[in-house]
Amino acid sequence: MTNPIHIIGGGLAGSEAAWQAAQAGVPVVLHEMRPVRGTDAHKTDGLAELVCSNSFRSDDAEANAVGLLHAEMRLANSLIMACGDAHQVPAGGALAVDRDGFSAAVTAKLEAHPLIGIVREEVTGLPPGNWDQAIIATGPLTAPSLAEAIADQTGTDALAFFDAIAPIVHFDTIDMNVCWFQSRYDKVGPGGTGKDYINCPLDKAQYEAFVAALVDGQKTEFKQWEGTPYFDGCLPIEVMAERGVETLRHGPMKPMGLTNAHNPTVKAYAVVQLRQDNALGTLYNMVGFQTKLKHGEQVRIFKTIPGLENAEFARLGGLHRNTYINSPTLLDPTLQLKGRPGLRFAGQITGCEGYVESAAIGLLAGRFAAAERLGQPISAPPATTAFGALLNHITGGHIVSDEEPGKRSFQPMNVNFGLFPPLEPGTKLRPDDFEGRFRGKDKTIAKKKATTARALRDCRAWLGMAPTVKAAE
Ligand SMILES: Cc1cc2nc3c(=O)[nH]c(=O)nc-3n(C[C@H](O)[C@H](O)[C@H](O)COP(=O)(O)OP(=O)(O)OC[C@H]3O[C@@H](n4cnc5c(N)ncnc54)[C@H](O)[C@@H]3O)c2cc1C
Repeated sequence: MTNPIHIIGGGLAGSEAAWQAAQAGVPVVLHEMRPVRGTDAHKTDGLAELVCSNSFRSDDAEANAVGLLHAEMRLANSLIMACGDAHQVPAGGALAVDRDGFSAAVTAKLEAHPLIGIVREEVTGLPPGNWDQAIIATGPLTAPSLAEAIADQTGTDALAFFDAIAPIVHFDTIDMNVCWFQSRYDKVGPGGTGKDYINCPLDKAQYEAFVAALVDGQKTEFKQWEGTPYFDGCLPIEVMAERGVETLRHGPMKPMGLTNAHNPTVKAYAVVQLRQDNALGTLYNMVGFQTKLKHGEQVRIFKTIPGLENAEFARLGGLHRNTYINSPTLLDPTLQLKGRPGLRFAGQITGCEGYVESAAIGLLAGRFAAAERLGQPISAPPATTAFGALLNHITGGHIVSDEEPGKRSFQPMNVNFGLFPPLEPGTKLRPDDFEGRFRGKDKTIAKKKATTARALRDCRAWLGMAPTVKAAE
């Protein structure tokens, strides 16, 4: 009989990985520590337990990136999507599920599969040598002894236990008539040009109003289990603002070494800088702006920054308990640990974020491991698909900070349109959706629709499916 693939962790990613590998004809042993050992967030011993909200977010496959991911996963015979669809509860345009029914259905399907064995035990170290194919899918709350073993193998710098996330903005929503490109003192770092940052200028009144808004803004509270909240270099900006009105002007908002290209004779009183966040240059993060402000407050307050009035955020800031590895340096494009062939990672521990994204990466890891076991070529999804966009973010899309060499800049992320390659020049936007010429918001929607149509066409081709009539047009 074929050697099994060992999967550690029966959450969203591990359950999907087990299903995909078994459906490909490969035996699987799924190791899940609950109920032998619990986590601070899980409450049941069910597989694929949803630890917080019961939503898989938007189900709109035409104009929403996570909705597109749903659609691609359905095409790829996802167990998580099939059970989610079967246990849907009303939630407008979102796919929300009855969490108990959903988890029970995933558990029953995996328990009934003839090629899957489920072992309820904690795996306390890296997979032993005789597990020649293994997937670690132990999630943001990976048990401590395994986390330590991963840190020993990968280097302690390569494993994070918190994510301190600054908001990320879609480049094409930044007003470059107000902002300008310039690195502080025009410094040219490795791979840089001296114009690597986008700068947003504030005058004194704007700065003081901004600091006051930060201090007054509503914050989210840390849950007790999240441990010590603040650590060196990751102070939330509202905490800095509370320390005195001038603190931010001497920290992340310092104006020194910058000249406003639109107004060179007037020195900005403070400057917010944004740094390129992905290789495509479609996303920029707000440097030093990690925050615990509530999401609605972030949007309201950050849109008062000159140049960001119409900003759309690919993700908002936060500070969470999380466990994730520095995947872009550690993993190859098939999610395999570079130093240890046969060992893959999947789910949130790879640096994706969200139930659906975690399951999607589990789906890919399960397929990759099964193909390898069966001696088949591993085919990665095209970068134009939501699968490929997410995979590329994890295994290669981030860029290293040139001002702070050696500092990790990889941060967990939900799937979003900023991760997709731009449409090919000359791509026809579908005029049937709108009357007349595309403008503003209509154009943005049309571009999203063209991106999702391209993704579904390429995903079907990747899966060896016939194109739909529409996609073939
Ligand atoms: C508190 C919290 C709230 C969240 N809320 C949301 C939300 O509302 N919406 C959203 O989309 N995402 C949310 N997330 C983010 C994330 O999408 C989920 O955590 C998601 O469940 C991650 O999937 P996963 O499969 O990677 O990990 P999990 O679903 O956590 O699965 C990991 C599994 O591994 C097991 N395990 C851990 N260590 C071991 C070990 N050593 N041996 C054996 N088994 C082990 C765990 O028991 C668990 O079953 C939240 C995360 C946290 C921490």
